[in-house]
Amino acid sequence: MKICMVGTGYVGLVSGVCFSDIGNDVICVDHDLNKINNLKEGIIPIYEPGLQELVLKNYRNGKLKFSTNLKESINKSDIIFICVGTPTKKNEDGADLTQVYNVAREIRNSISKFKIIITKSTVPVTTGDEIEKIISNKKSKNLFSVVSNPEFLREGDAVNDFFYPDRIVIGTSNVKSNKILKNLYSPLVSKGAKYINTSRRAAELIKYASNAFLATKITFINEIANLCEKININVEDISIGMGLDKRIGSRFLRAGPAYGGSCFPKDTKAITATADKFKTNLSLIKTVIKSNENRSSLLIKRVLEILNRKIKNKKISFLGVTFKANTDDMRDSSCLSMIPSLNKMGAKINYYDPTGIKSELARYKNVIYSKDIKSAISKSDLIIIHTEWNDFKSINFKSLAKNKKVIIFDMRNLYSPSKMKNSNIKYFSVGR
Ligand code: NAD
Repeated sequence: MKICMVGTGYVGLVSGVCFSDIGNDVICVDHDLNKINNLKEGIIPIYEPGLQELVLKNYRNGKLKFSTNLKESINKSDIIFICVGTPTKKNEDGADLTQVYNVAREIRNSISKFKIIITKSTVPVTTGDEIEKIISNKKSKNLFSVVSNPEFLREGDAVNDFFYPDRIVIGTSNVKSNKILKNLYSPLVSKGAKYINTSRRAAELIKYASNAFLATKITFINEIANLCEKININVEDISIGMGLDKRIGSRFLRAGPAYGGSCFPKDTKAITATADKFKTNLSLIKTVIKSNENRSSLLIKRVLEILNRKIKNKKISFLGVTFKANTDDMRDSSCLSMIPSLNKMGAKINYYDPTGIKSELARYKNVIYSKDIKSAISKSDLIIIHTEWNDFKSINFKSLAKNKKVIIFDMRNLYSPSKMKNSNIKYFSVGR
């Protein structure tokens, strides 16, 4: 099939490349000329395991193309996926759909034969209706069909998630579009993915409800961890004991810092804003958002306790600053609130992340990027393990830190408290 991905970011690039790998002709379009030129040179704009090999392979064999010319790319394609950003509106909780509607208008001005137009971007319920309205303003409804196909891939595991998804959700009542999309996804369905066809609005809501539920699960175990700390219980016992119940499941039950990333914070807010618009109070999700927002201040309070409230001029080292491992994505990472707060209190921050220096932290005085773990933690007053990269799972802290008194706050529970005690390291973790 001939496919155009509009927006070559985490979602558009990964799914575009993977569609080309299963035999389709794909053009990945972006208005960022620099990004497109780099991709043509084989320079990948994001850190995503396994992506570079697939890009090089499919670009070289001609199944994958990159372009900034949307009109021409639409003309050459039968299926158009909208994969642009849907960030939170400024000073509001709802999703900002400017990029999506801009693309819809560009598509409207470019189509002359039947196209399936698909939102892969996460968009609030009724966005598909709005896109249909925008296009039908100038073009006959026989010329297009608007479908919702939300994306569930996880950064860090995105390529694998594309090829082996739990489910493929197609929101459309158009029989022809459903048939074509079933065919497009058949290589994944034959490997075990479940394919479900729902109404367009249901597909849009499935994505938000799923993310809100996962955010709730994380927040739930984080609050249970707070209780465990007060009564000397190991939260990991609770996670195991709960997770073995098949109705609950063990994933997303690991206590840690506030959830972050490009999806959960914005999507939990957007679903409550949508519900408010339809006069429905999603009070549970609103509480989750508040609890998560409080979590970073709660962890800072613990840092203060660990350092006996003497924070001025203390060297605090962050290991990992991305919101999770195996990605370079800094969007809404919890350290973006913790590092500036500690810095404001007078701490000197050194950080190391396997994906390199971060522009988001460049404007803070006394927040310095270290080129490796050793220089980040050397002579540190407190080492904070913020992200669960494999690189941080077996560090010989005593030899690297080069000071007699090593203090660690492990926000990801990567190490055993008893082993740390035996090594004479002052060790703090979460919920245990
Ligand atoms: P991103 O910011 O990485 O990529 C968006 C791209 O769209 C950018 O490269 C931007 O230049 C481009 N763009 C914007 N307007 C354009 C236009 N008019 N023409 C051409 N290109 C344009 O965003 P992302 O993380 O890939 O997310 C995209 C959508 O997918 C969002 O709605 C997000 O919620 C959803 N989503 C993201 C993930 C994830 O893990 N990142 C997972 C599932 C769903």
